[in-house]
Amino acid sequence: MTIKLSNPVTDLPSVGEVYAKRLRHLKIKTIRDLLYHFPFRYQDFSQTKKIRYLAEGDEVTVAGEVIKVEVIRAKGGKLLTKAAVADETGAIEAIWFNQPYLKQALEEGKKIYLAGQVEQFGRHLGFVSPTFEPVDDETGPIHTGGLVPVYPETGRVSSKWLRARIKRALALFNPGELADLEFIPREILQEEGLPDLEEALQTIHFPKSEGEAKKARRRFAFEELLLLNLRSIERRRRWNERKLAARIDIPRYRREIEQFIDGLPFTLTGAQKRAAVEILNDLNKPTPMNRLLEGDVGSGKTVIAAIAAYACFLNGMRTVLMAPTEILAQQHYETLKSLLEPYGITCALHTGGKKPKLPDYPAVQLPDLWIGTHALFYRKGSFKGVGLVVIDEQHRFGVEQRAELVKKAGDVPHILTLTATPIPRSLALTVYGDLDLSIIDELPPGRKRIKTFVVPEGKRQAGYRWIGEKVKSGEQAFIICPLIEESEKVPIGDRESPTEGGKSVRQVKAATAEYEKLQKVFPNLSLGLLHGRLKVAEKNDVIDKFRKGKHQILIATPVVEVGIDIPKATIMVIEAADRFGLASLHQLRGRVGRGDKESYCFLFTENGGRDVFKRLKALESTTSGFELAELDLKLRGPGEIYGTKQHGLLELKVADLSDTKMLKAARESAHKIMDGELPPRLRQELERFTTSLVEPN
Ligand code: ADP
Ligand code: MG
Repeated sequence: MTIKLSNPVTDLPSVGEVYAKRLRHLKIKTIRDLLYHFPFRYQDFSQTKKIRYLAEGDEVTVAGEVIKVEVIRAKGGKLLTKAAVADETGAIEAIWFNQPYLKQALEEGKKIYLAGQVEQFGRHLGFVSPTFEPVDDETGPIHTGGLVPVYPETGRVSSKWLRARIKRALALFNPGELADLEFIPREILQEEGLPDLEEALQTIHFPKSEGEAKKARRRFAFEELLLLNLRSIERRRRWNERKLAARIDIPRYRREIEQFIDGLPFTLTGAQKRAAVEILNDLNKPTPMNRLLEGDVGSGKTVIAAIAAYACFLNGMRTVLMAPTEILAQQHYETLKSLLEPYGITCALHTGGKKPKLPDYPAVQLPDLWIGTHALFYRKGSFKGVGLVVIDEQHRFGVEQRAELVKKAGDVPHILTLTATPIPRSLALTVYGDLDLSIIDELPPGRKRIKTFVVPEGKRQAGYRWIGEKVKSGEQAFIICPLIEESEKVPIGDRESPTEGGKSVRQVKAATAEYEKLQKVFPNLSLGLLHGRLKVAEKNDVIDKFRKGKHQILIATPVVEVGIDIPKATIMVIEAADRFGLASLHQLRGRVGRGDKESYCFLFTENGGRDVFKRLKALESTTSGFELAELDLKLRGPGEIYGTKQHGLLELKVADLSDTKMLKAARESAHKIMDGELPPRLRQELERFTTSLVEPN
């Protein structure tokens, strides 16, 4: 039988239904999935020694014959399996706790490999719980005697089990057979100095040296980035092939647009101007725009959307704007109406709760600007004459929802998406390679800088005293309690977002504990507690009391309700700040400094190592969400920026997204490949990859 990568794992000897099910939890269904399940480290058992030459502390493999094996009951009732193993130079003892069944595998007379660390047992040397396996001259050692792969032990599948099956799976392919499955063009592998598929699969699991393993890992990282880029390029090409329903002429209305900008209640920042120019240029093109506008919270993205909507209106076309929540839609409606109505543009709000509000323009049947939530989908009929679709906080919508809205818009419109998630440019080019990118990296002038301090544990009491004084003089403070981290063992892509729904009971406990502690610290003040387990009415009550100044301090979990806007609050305290990414801290800090008073942010840390301190210090001097995100990416990886699974990026297994050099190499290779014909095998792989990814939203 010839084996194929796409065959189910159950085609492997001794993989039955039980394991098939467990493997499914690890997303392993095919032989390919199994071979692409990579170790996260290697145990070094490559040193082999004769028993006589062993010394305490050695990490080694020995080969010998079991000369005696027994199970005894030790003090305290523990069962102890004891074996003596001998080679021609001497003998050594090995013990295992509470695994009496090992006795069967350790029959006297059997030749085995033993690997582990040599320890001193009283007066002689021995192994505690060493790894062992029978000597098999055909396959050689798998679990001992080399760099032994260690896999994440999840879903009740042990490293030992995986190691053996992967070895078997690799052996099912004849030499050269896997190499023939290579889908990355040879020239590119050569240019990048990367091993081919066969070599890489072999050496990522069973390397002869750390160097070999590293090279294999680089190949798979490159592979992921290459596929990601190919996908983006394809998408963009397909998008560019679409023809606009109607052209938008910008030069013709240049004067009107300039007048509109001059008439705004403020002067645009340099970054806003750049973004506006980029967008107007796009609108003027015969191909539909597909642009992402990134800017920190409060950087002024809405007005840019207004300018684009106005240009669209001048050309006799409509705009549809979709926001993720009713509150946001409402807010946009108010803002845009006041900006645009004076220019004769009619606006309508369409949310779940509200029927579209049409102003009293008797002659107008349909509004020029539709603003709404998902409810826009359910509107009867399509929107006629839509030239532009704007999607706010685009990461909150799924790809399908966006596509649906675009379809509903009828003719092929221009698309502008707005986001406050700061994605560094290097990364955005890879993930959103099919989108053009505009960045607003400057806040409107006059914003008060929030004075930020990293407070080491020793200064906590002084900090509390200072806050107490401030609060007594009429100011208000948020205290964000420690973020409860999910178990370290969970791979990044599986980590739950820190939502407080049913999941994090521990988070609620931590908040409650913090609340109780702080009541003792501030006995004369009124404290409120806000966490995700409260009922809506309770939440509203706490927020309301805080807003009215009845509570002076609000203790909240890290996921402070979106839309909570309390201008009087001037102090933000974040507990265990070291557990947060810089970008998240920056967003939390943004909850204060909204009024005209001086505002402060205190970052408390219990675990103030020098590195932690240095990282947090960046917040004292930096006010840009982008710079902080860039730093996060370097220091802690992409999970910190996105935090949740919402991002397909986190599905990447090996690629290091802060490796800008590799990001660039992969992007260039992808372009080179796409300049020619996409080879059939690569096309196939690209399709598989695309369907396997959770869409980056
Ligand atoms: P976001 O980018 O978070 O969507 P908004 O568009 O809501 O930000 O703008 C935040 C606030 O800043 C609004 O009140 C808006 O009127 C104001 N604003 C926007 N641009 C400027 C500017 N250039 N100068 C002063 N204020 C501005
Ligand atoms: Mg906004």
